[in-house]
Amino acid sequence: MPKRDYYEVLGVPRAASDDDIKSAYRRLARQYHPDVAKENPKVAEEKFKELSEAYEVLANPEKRRRYDELGFSAVESEFGPGGFGWQNFTHQADLEDLFGSSALFRQLFEGFGAPYGGRGRRDSGRGSDVEMTLRVPLSAAVHGARPTLEVPHDRPCADCRGTGAKGGTAFEVCPECGGQGQVRRVQSRGYTQLITIGECPRCHGAGRRILERCPTCGGSGRLSSVEKIEIDVPAGIEDGAVLRVPGHGGIGRPGGRPGDLYVQVAFDPTPSIRRAGQDAYTETTIPLATALLGGQVTVPTIDGRADLKIPPGTQPETQFRLRGHGFPRLRGSARGDLLVTAHVEVPRSLSGRQREQLREALGAATPAAEGRRESFFRRRGT
Ligand SMILES: [Zn+2]
Ligand SMILES: [Zn+2]
Repeated sequence: MPKRDYYEVLGVPRAASDDDIKSAYRRLARQYHPDVAKENPKVAEEKFKELSEAYEVLANPEKRRRYDELGFSAVESEFGPGGFGWQNFTHQADLEDLFGSSALFRQLFEGFGAPYGGRGRRDSGRGSDVEMTLRVPLSAAVHGARPTLEVPHDRPCADCRGTGAKGGTAFEVCPECGGQGQVRRVQSRGYTQLITIGECPRCHGAGRRILERCPTCGGSGRLSSVEKIEIDVPAGIEDGAVLRVPGHGGIGRPGGRPGDLYVQVAFDPTPSIRRAGQDAYTETTIPLATALLGGQVTVPTIDGRADLKIPPGTQPETQFRLRGHGFPRLRGSARGDLLVTAHVEVPRSLSGRQREQLREALGAATPAAEGRRESFFRRRGT
């Protein structure tokens, strides 16, 4: 595939602003991300990579200037011998809100050596990532929240310094692997030598043999504990969004950094409110008299209740708009609207006096029609 001009790849003019470039990239990433592209994921991944390379260069003013002047050769040298790879991509954060919760998204960046949203290579002793769900009331979408999350962790046992051996010394280096934890097996197949590196069968990768177990941790070298972390839930957040808390995942092996904590936000079910983007929808039932004469009712909102003025002569299923009672944007203060559908409650039965009064008030058409129906039943009944 011949290399295409970066501006052409993103479909923007050479004079495009930084914002134009960013929004073009996000729009195309939405289309070609392997997670969302339904047909041919291989092609989609190639496309996504091509886009990301173009964005990597054009989003950086210095690289963009060099590319504008001298072309590919001025920027490609930085990508290494194989050309652009995911380890060269530094703008994961620009896509995090689109794909951050997707396992494939994270795998794509982590698997290629670039730690998710981070710098440098992924170290091998790194702790595992931890995923948790955090339930918050719907009002958190408006005001934000700072709930405390209890994260179960393993931490190294202090008594044995994480070795699992009593006092941190009651072990011997595994004689099978010499402390490497790995053994190399060499097989010959014809002229081909097959070298397999596998876990040491004697120490199962530990590299040492415990002579006496640490009584505190039972030889595992780890103790479980609970870390309490305040999670900053920003206003405007969507249901199911994922917050990344770096360094609060599983602990790594000695020398390795800890993994990250991924917190998926789930709103408490609020049946009375439905969300569509920044707008909220709810329903209310008003008495017939209020629909006819007008009045005021209270309606449920995201974070409480609000008064709604009902004008006289309101028709059933009228939709009212309460401005500014919807959801805010993630970065911004303006709120959407609350749309209230008003059902009208029609009484199932009336007293004789109410009947008379209504007949009088609403005119003569009703009694005539009702009279005919009554005579019909009287004829059938007798
Ligand atoms: Zn061994
Ligand atoms: Zn211990």
